[in-house]
Amino acid sequence: MRIGFGYDVHRLVEGRPLIIGGVEIPHTHGLLGHSDADVLIHAICDAILGAAGLRDIGYYFPDNDDNFKNADSKVLLARSLELVEKEGYTVDNIDTTICAERPKLNPHIESMKQTLASILKVSVKDVGIKATTNETIGFVGRCEGIVAYAVALIKKCEC
Ligand code: MG
Repeated sequence: MRIGFGYDVHRLVEGRPLIIGGVEIPHTHGLLGHSDADVLIHAICDAILGAAGLRDIGYYFPDNDDNFKNADSKVLLARSLELVEKEGYTVDNIDTTICAERPKLNPHIESMKQTLASILKVSVKDVGIKATTNETIGFVGRCEGIVAYAVALIKKCEC
């Protein structure tokens, strides 16, 4: 068994869809980035890659590569998992926290869990997602951005 950790942040801007955990969430603002800027999925990619002793998401899917412009981060997660599987591991479970002042994420968490579980080939109970505000403090509290943290446990395949 090996553990990995991931962190990501993206700026909130007008005129972009808000996509977190592979789910589009109705909101006045969305996350800015080269890809779809799915902050939660990016943190999870780094957690599973790190657990396998690999590099980070920006190393494999660079933000100056047009192939990844507006890329669906669900695809990046599936490709990160492939890299982890190539090292001989499967995901055991992940746990994550999203820090966002607005909008309320609670109604969307079940849908995110299902989306991520199916990509990571684990059960819904193996995907932890918590959401918290930043108590109006700092850039998250001022609604300038959203942050996500993830840890992942991976295990050697018996295959
Ligand atoms: Mg990112």
